[in-house]
Amino acid sequence: MVAFLRNSLFVFLVLTGLYFSSFSASGQQPAFPTYKSMLDALQGLEPDETKVASVSGFFLQRETASFNLEEGTITLCKPIGGKVRAAVFMGKATFSFTPPSRVEREQLERHLETQMIETEVESMVLFFADSTERELASGCKFTRQPLPSGINSVLKNGIGGVISKESEFAEIDLTKTLLEEKDNSLFYAIMHTEKYGEIQWAFAPYDEEQMQFAKLRSVRVNQGSFYEVINQYQSESGEPTENFSKGDFEINHYKIDCTIGKSLEFAVTTTVTGVLSAESARWLLFDLSNYIKVSSISMDGAELPFYEGKNGGDCWVNLPKKYKQGDSISLKFVCSSEKIMTRIENWTFLENSIGWYPHSGYKKYAIFDATFHIPKRYTFVAVGDKISSKENDDEVITTQWLTPSKIRNYSFNIGVFSSKKFSDNELPEFYMHSLNTDQRDNVMQDIGLSFKFYQKIYGDLGIKHFNATEISALHGEAFPGMLHLSYATFLDAENKGNNEVFCAHEVAHQWWGIGVDFQSYHDQWLSEAFSEYSAMMYMQTVLHNDKFFKMLGKYREGIIDKRNSLFGSMTKSGPISLGRRTSSTLTQEDYDLIVYKKGAWVLHMLRNMFLDVKTMKEDAFFKIMKTFFETYKGKRATTQDFRHVIEQYTGTDVGWFFDQWVDGTGIPLYKFAYKVKEQEGKFRVSCQIYQVNVPPDFRMSIPIKVDFGNNQIVRVRAMVTGKKAEFDLPLMPLKPKDVILNDLESVLCEVETMDWIE
Ligand SMILES: [Zn+2]
Repeated sequence: MVAFLRNSLFVFLVLTGLYFSSFSASGQQPAFPTYKSMLDALQGLEPDETKVASVSGFFLQRETASFNLEEGTITLCKPIGGKVRAAVFMGKATFSFTPPSRVEREQLERHLETQMIETEVESMVLFFADSTERELASGCKFTRQPLPSGINSVLKNGIGGVISKESEFAEIDLTKTLLEEKDNSLFYAIMHTEKYGEIQWAFAPYDEEQMQFAKLRSVRVNQGSFYEVINQYQSESGEPTENFSKGDFEINHYKIDCTIGKSLEFAVTTTVTGVLSAESARWLLFDLSNYIKVSSISMDGAELPFYEGKNGGDCWVNLPKKYKQGDSISLKFVCSSEKIMTRIENWTFLENSIGWYPHSGYKKYAIFDATFHIPKRYTFVAVGDKISSKENDDEVITTQWLTPSKIRNYSFNIGVFSSKKFSDNELPEFYMHSLNTDQRDNVMQDIGLSFKFYQKIYGDLGIKHFNATEISALHGEAFPGMLHLSYATFLDAENKGNNEVFCAHEVAHQWWGIGVDFQSYHDQWLSEAFSEYSAMMYMQTVLHNDKFFKMLGKYREGIIDKRNSLFGSMTKSGPISLGRRTSSTLTQEDYDLIVYKKGAWVLHMLRNMFLDVKTMKEDAFFKIMKTFFETYKGKRATTQDFRHVIEQYTGTDVGWFFDQWVDGTGIPLYKFAYKVKEQEGKFRVSCQIYQVNVPPDFRMSIPIKVDFGNNQIVRVRAMVTGKKAEFDLPLMPLKPKDVILNDLESVLCEVETMDWIE
């Protein structure tokens, strides 16, 4: 019976093919009908003994990288999916590569102690979808020859560079290229070198920054290894039109139905609706936490094939046909998890705040319409306006939450909480939900007061309600109108400034990171450092000035002493504009140190640079910050946008400041001396400054305090540049008792006093 049905279906297709020619074209069997068939083909790549060529002096150039195959053998691999996609070179080659920008050259230097790679290569596996096969065919004579010995292990290593054995997941640009049978500019070279070990140079066509240079590093002894990206930047041809950051699928609406059980068993159905942003996409990539198990993905009631790998996490979905760019589709994900939420006694744990629903692309905005079914014994809060609440029976409450506008990150919190309202007319409706109540009033006060402080200095957010909630973790996280705060801050009674800054940092994200979003990882300090420094300024208003300067001092020591630290590595820190890439296997703590702490210092320096030292007024700085917030509220901003706001307000070019402090890594040491000479009843103060540890063209405007005793002081500003600066201050009416450089910590630097050098 089954056989009969199949036969008749076959006949039906053949007959109708005449009338629906496009159907037969799109009905053509794809090269890889499933992800697994693609993975198997890639894993099973074989050298083709009929396509072996001797090469000498063959040259391949890809952007700023060149591969000179001086002497050896190149062997093409047998086609997969109908196309030759790989080749193996064995012999002697030279690989040369110079990153085009100073930031990337310096990053290369921090990792490999050179600004330019030129190294001998012993063997190399190439993966490509570009012109490589044609270039090889025109320059080499391929014939049947015995395969070079050892070729199989070289090829196996190369395959290991594009497939994670552990997760059974292939590199995503290569995956999309193979599954969708693309001819694009994909090119990977996985090389074995004596000097640098295993290295990889790639043109990944679907990355916003296509050029990538990586080195194989071991994570820990006996814990495997991975290719760590050292350089990454955009091609000369600019940003690709299709890329994984944008996502092939622009989700604009999430409909969520989530049930949480008594022991926090988690089940969620998410319907995502959006527009396909790539032409003829057949496979879409979604991110999910690897705690989430996907049971099915369907479209219009029909289940779709998908692939999650061994560990879950990323998920590839196979669409039933090729769609046109701009087509609108809805996908329904049915997921569950026994691990994403757990409970130990009264402590509730949420392992991943946003990974429980599927994401497509990086930093995308959508409307969230979410319904939650929660045991009554728990307190539950989610992001958005609560639009309905219904008690189903004695046990379960169903609530529905809707975000009034498109947002980036959606989350909730659930716990054995007690809730308290903070009544204040100047605040949105504000509730605190926590398990621990020891320091709850302090936490509420910091949140309420910092909210009002930011409202005053930056402007109104226009939100109606605000929920602060406790989590059983050591970090905090901010969502529109909702905070996750570490339990630790609810237990710690210390008023040293850390708790104040911790809470106020998360509140500040409502302005920086959520209110004004950042464009790319290069601009992330606009969120983290702005929140950190805002929180420090709040702390300065509620605690003593000393605590503010103590914290700045601690951050400075961390930044300067990092190289000497017992736990830090010897590798120097990268610049703020490297964002998350400041952290690497060699510089593990640097994201926090550089993006948060040095970033906060950069704002502190700007505040000081625009300080009127005569009146001590700070209007300029606050006006700049407010203008930046108002201009970019609801938008994504870049570091350049911030620079332009400053330049528009002050009318001066501050490019040099950003070059030095955001893209640069120098931190000056000033050796300072002064002498005083009486002159016609007045006093001439001469200053001498040696600028050390930075390039000679480094410059900074530094306040100098002249102290006459009896609380009489004068501050003047000096623009210091060059190896040595010598200048006189304006004539002073009294004889100074002391002259101090940088007394307000206006510049991130070290100061040493010295004797005058004639
Ligand atoms: Zn933060």
